[in-house]
Amino acid sequence: MQVTYKIKKSFRRSISMTISDDGTVLVKAPHFVSEKEVQDFIVSKKSWVTKHIEKTLATNEKVNELGILTKDEIKKIKKEAKKIIPERVKYYASLSGITYGTISIRLQKTCWGSCTAKGNLNFNCLLVLMPPEVLDSIVVHELCHRRHMDHSKDFYAEIDRIFPEYKKWNKWLKDNGDVYLKRAEGKNI
Ligand SMILES: [Zn+2]
Repeated sequence: MQVTYKIKKSFRRSISMTISDDGTVLVKAPHFVSEKEVQDFIVSKKSWVTKHIEKTLATNEKVNELGILTKDEIKKIKKEAKKIIPERVKYYASLSGITYGTISIRLQKTCWGSCTAKGNLNFNCLLVLMPPEVLDSIVVHELCHRRHMDHSKDFYAEIDRIFPEYKKWNKWLKDNGDVYLKRAEGKNI
């Protein structure tokens, strides 16, 4: 695979690397590091680099295929989400005996859901575009924070009791979630 990289030198002690949206490798390096050392560094992390570039390019391809969401489409998605998500919360709350406060549904840029100390729940409206099990997995995740405000073993055991397929759908979201976020990028509604 052909790898394109950019180097940004600064006062730092070690080299770090990220993959930008177009699949370019961005290397942050200390001033004393030579170009050859940067190249060696990239080569030494070859499998990580390849994996992440491939994922970024596949995401971009999917986004192009499905298209960027228009403002109108997002408004419709939000409306739909405001109908569906509270129903799923209600269902899993009564199933598990967990209480909650208010529910807010927004277009969020990085986050799928959150739960405040008071039990108020936030969800990303884009979840309704995905398989229903993905939405359910996030609903159950946030509700379980009412019992455990952390990501401990006990927390995941609680999720497992209520929604045994959690791992599978959480992985689905990790693999595919970026496509949805990118389709809505730059939209603030
Ligand atoms: Zn969490």
